[in-house]
Amino acid sequence: MPIYEYACQRCKNEFQALVMSRSDQEALVCPICGNHELNRLISRVAYHQSEKDRLDSFDPTARQSDSFYKDSRNIGLQAKKRLQQMGVDLGSGFESKLEKLRTDPGSVLKDSD
Ligand SMILES: [Zn+2]
Repeated sequence: MPIYEYACQRCKNEFQALVMSRSDQEALVCPICGNHELNRLISRVAYHQSEKDRLDSFDPTARQSDSFYKDSRNIGLQAKKRLQQMGVDLGSGFESKLEKLRTDPGSVLKDSD
């Protein structure tokens, strides 16, 4: 769903809106003051998503876009979701390994434990 985040130029209120078409975009007004001069905050929503949100919204059966795979924060998400669905407690060891994999993929290969 094309959900975008906007900032009102007048009252600085930030809000999210579902924009399906150009007319939706043109009809959009600030829900606080009714002003229609808005700045779209590009990819702000996805960026601020926590890992829990990512995991909750992640659908392992859906085809992911290329950008999904290029985003290193999504590494391990599929495995994690799957284990979570099976009711496996991943523990903190898994978390730290995953974090390592995301930040420094080479280090995991050298890690023997
Ligand atoms: Zn406003």
